[in-house]
Amino acid sequence: MKPSEKEEEYVARLEFDRKKKLEEEKHKTLAKDEKRRLKDLHYMMCPKCGMELIEIDYKNIKIDKCSECEGIWLDAGELETVSKLEKTGLDKLLSVFRK
Ligand SMILES: [Zn+2]
Repeated sequence: MKPSEKEEEYVARLEFDRKKKLEEEKHKTLAKDEKRRLKDLHYMMCPKCGMELIEIDYKNIKIDKCSECEGIWLDAGELETVSKLEKTGLDKLLSVFRK
């Protein structure tokens, strides 16, 4: 890795850690009922536009695609799994969503 890439990675990680701590502090103040209410309200809804997500199961990767804005969302660990797909596997995965 070039020094500048290392620096970018470092800065991004610091930013993530800082934002995560802020969110964790907020979550501590949320009551259980409020967390459940928020989950019921937002589950399988697009985090960008609020419309329903369509879930596709491809090689045990559950990929959620927005029915409106076409954003694609991955659950925890799935980005790592997708990044390990061979190029042809990735092409096949993307072709599932092609019109
Ligand atoms: Zn959307």
